[in-house]
Amino acid sequence: MTKQNMVVADAKTGINVAISMAVSGSSLFTTAAQRPPPAAVPGPYITISRINNGARINAWVDSMRASSPTRIKASSLSDDQDSWILHHPSALDMFEQITSASKGKQIVMFLDYDGTLSPIVDDPDRAFMSEAMRATVRKLARYFPTAIVSGRCRDKVYSFVRLAELYYAGSHGMDIKGPSKGSKYKKGAQAVLFQPASEFLPMIDEVYKALLEVTKSTPGARVENNKFCVSVHFRCVDEMKWSELAKQVGAVLEDYPNLRLTQGRKVLEIRPTIKWDKGKALEFLLESLGYANCTDVFPVYIGDDRSDEDAFKVLRERGQGFGILVSKIPKETNASYSLQEPSEVMAFLRRLVGWKRMSLRRQFRMRRRLEEIKVSLPN
Ligand SMILES: [Mg+2]
Repeated sequence: MTKQNMVVADAKTGINVAISMAVSGSSLFTTAAQRPPPAAVPGPYITISRINNGARINAWVDSMRASSPTRIKASSLSDDQDSWILHHPSALDMFEQITSASKGKQIVMFLDYDGTLSPIVDDPDRAFMSEAMRATVRKLARYFPTAIVSGRCRDKVYSFVRLAELYYAGSHGMDIKGPSKGSKYKKGAQAVLFQPASEFLPMIDEVYKALLEVTKSTPGARVENNKFCVSVHFRCVDEMKWSELAKQVGAVLEDYPNLRLTQGRKVLEIRPTIKWDKGKALEFLLESLGYANCTDVFPVYIGDDRSDEDAFKVLRERGQGFGILVSKIPKETNASYSLQEPSEVMAFLRRLVGWKRMSLRRQFRMRRRLEEIKVSLPN
C-alpha cells in the first residue's frame, strides 16, 4: 500500500478537495485478460475522511431522491417535460433519423437491465423481464452484436435474461463475459473476457456481511452482493428512514478506504476505487469486438440510471452512435434521445429489427438482380 495525494471534485458542489489516500500497488489489479489494469483513481465520489459528515449524508440522500422520484408535481412537470423533450426527443419519433445516421456502419447494442428491459419492482430478486422482451432481445442479437451492461452480479443478470448469445457485463462492467454459444459475433475462445477488480472479491464479501448486519435495524432495507460491488436497496424503505440508512452505510465504509460509494435509483452502491465503470465496459467491449479504432461502428446504449451516464458520456466524447435514456421525467443526461419505459424500449428494439430485416432483404434482392443482369449480358 502507498499513500497518494489526489484532487477529487465534489460531485454536488463541484469544489475540488485535496485528499491523501492509501492505494494499492499494481499487483492488486491483475486481470483475467492480462490487460493493463485500470488506474486506482477515485472519480467524483465521496471520500472516506468525510463519510460521516451530516451534510454529505444528506447530499447522498438528496441525490438519490432526485434520481428516484416518488412524487411527481403535474403542473411544473408539464413545462419541464416540453423543454426537456426538445433536447432529448423520443427515439421512436426520431427512428428514421437514427437509422439514417447509422448508414454504412455496424450497429452494436448495449442494454442496461433494471428499468430498461425489466420494470423497477420492490423486490430486486423479482425484476423479471417479459417473454415478449426476451424474444425481442433474441431477435436483436441475430442482427447486431448485443451486450447487457448491468450493476447486478453477472450470474444474476444472466439468470433473468437467459440468452447465451449475448455479451454480459455485470457489476457495472467489472465482470465481462462473451457469448457462450450461438453468436456469429463471438470473438476468440475466451469465455471470461475481463475482471479488473478480482482482488477486491474478499473485501467486497466482508463489506456485504457487515452491511447485512448493520442494516438489519432498518425495515425494508435490502443488501445485494453483486460480486464486485454491493448494492443497498432503498426501494422498500420509508423515505423518512433514508438518512438513517445512509448513515449506517457510511459508518461501515469508514473502514474501507479502497471502496467508494455511488448513488442510483433508490440504491447506494459500494464499489472498488478503480477507474472502471459502464463507460469503460462499453469501450472494452467495442475493442473486444474489433471496433476499437473503427469509424464505421455505431454503438447504441440504452439505460435508465446514473451509472449509465458514464456510457452516454463515452459515446458523446467518441462522437459515435448515441445514448438513449429511459425516463418518464426530465433528468440531466448525456443521452441524446429518450424512451419513457421498458415497453417503449421493446417497441424501439422491434423497429430496429424490422428495419434491419428489410434492409437485408433489399440488399439481397439487389444482389440477385445484378446477378441476373450479369448472366443476361452477351459474353
Ligand atoms: Mg437500470
